[in-house]
Amino acid sequence: MKGRFLLAIDQGTSSSRSVIYDHDARVVASAQQEFPQIYPQPGWVEHDPEAIWESVTSVTKGAIQEAGAAAADISAIGITNQRETTLIWDRQTGECVYNAIVWQDRRTADYCQSLKNDGCEAAVADKTGLRLDPYFSGTKIAWILNNVEGVRARAEAGKLAFGTIDSFLLWRLTGGREHATDATNASRTLLFNIHTQEWDEDLLRMFSIPRELLPEVKDCAADYGIAVDDCIGGNTPVCGIAGDQQAALIGQAGFEPGMTKSTYGTGCFVIANTGDTALRSRNHLLTTVAMRLNGAVTFGLEGSVFVAGSAMQWLRDELRIIDSAPESEEIARRTGVVEDVYVVPAFAGLGAPYWDPAARGAVLGLTRGSGRDDVVTATLQSVAFQTCDLIEAMSDDGIKPSVIRVDGGMVANNWFLQFLADVLNVPVERPCNVESTVLGAAYLAGHHAGVVESLAAIGDLWQQDSQFAPAMQAPQRERLLVGWHDAVRRVRSDA
Ligand code: ADP
Repeated sequence: MKGRFLLAIDQGTSSSRSVIYDHDARVVASAQQEFPQIYPQPGWVEHDPEAIWESVTSVTKGAIQEAGAAAADISAIGITNQRETTLIWDRQTGECVYNAIVWQDRRTADYCQSLKNDGCEAAVADKTGLRLDPYFSGTKIAWILNNVEGVRARAEAGKLAFGTIDSFLLWRLTGGREHATDATNASRTLLFNIHTQEWDEDLLRMFSIPRELLPEVKDCAADYGIAVDDCIGGNTPVCGIAGDQQAALIGQAGFEPGMTKSTYGTGCFVIANTGDTALRSRNHLLTTVAMRLNGAVTFGLEGSVFVAGSAMQWLRDELRIIDSAPESEEIARRTGVVEDVYVVPAFAGLGAPYWDPAARGAVLGLTRGSGRDDVVTATLQSVAFQTCDLIEAMSDDGIKPSVIRVDGGMVANNWFLQFLADVLNVPVERPCNVESTVLGAAYLAGHHAGVVESLAAIGDLWQQDSQFAPAMQAPQRERLLVGWHDAVRRVRSDA
């Protein structure tokens, strides 16, 4: 096998990143670039596909250059991506017919509601494990077909291709030779039956989406063709694809049933591995494909919280009571656990398990003595409480994690992780490499290319940086959770 490096591309919501790893999963070089967000109307979020492509080629070239590598040094490429974001392009020219409609975009809320009113949600949930929500790709595809002139006819004639960002990048990297995606990305489209692992004809009919648009669905570690684009500098195989949250689970070596990871970036995403069981949640969590390797599907139970690290940005940029996100740690450390003030950061509604889009944020329990430090600490605490709601929902569904592996930018905050372990009453483990998402993409590519021989080998590479053991007494934990649930009740639109 050629090469001594792996290249992982992480195409995220606000930036694109490429990382070069050696075969022991050590970072050799990396480059990152932001790209513009487009907000055409309230509730709409788009990305310019050319800006995405430009950022990916630029960081890829940059990382390869920084590593002093040539294409011949790279054994394989892995891709991970912002999930659900939807693109349709022309198979002949590669040009997109519309901007990427981003996962956060709510333009299809009314369409989703009308399908719910028609009683469609149960069938959708049974087949896909998802909800009828604008978050997922299906209704975004339908919107483009119904609103961009000429697109439906071209789609029906087989001239167009749909893809999530992974497919789009793959198409471009392989010079238009490969139209494929992996099972984790497919499982977020509302069109993929997670039980049969096939595109579902009934769902395609429900959304009026022509079958001709869809990519082939492959395992996460598979032959995805050869990247021939100039940004790589030579022919290199693409061997791995997974959506960002699933890639993080892989980067955290979460291969056994019950293993759970929680990622703290802008939002917080928890996935628990449920093995070969597609567990149906009673608590509004999603059932998703956690990974598909060698044809075997591993399912996951997923919960997401919209506001996590971004609450720190709110303290910094809107309230202007901290100068930087890390300052929140110093403040919380000197303040200690706050029991009377609660911040509910429902700025964009509440995610799982409440799914209340109309809820809005609040600061509750203020007294004459409450100050900035209480609000900052209570905001950090709110991220832990929200995680606690997800883990409680998972436990009630029958998945009770014995330890939680965390990653993402916010886990630099030790005070936060200790408080998290305390309120969850579960040990929290932080790995040495907290960039699990991009690492997961590298592992997938390395696995298929034969660099990483087995999943067990990935497990062996996982290294703990610190473990935070629960140390809070039960009465205090219970008081805090009662206070939190009372605060949530007061912001809910449907309570
Ligand atoms: P994303 O990938 O979603 O852009 P990152 O994983 O890079 O996010 O994490 C960045 C987020 O983490 C920001 O929202 C920031 O406010 C938060 N953050 C970074 N460092 C800290 C810290 N020490 N304490 C609390 N929050 C932090």
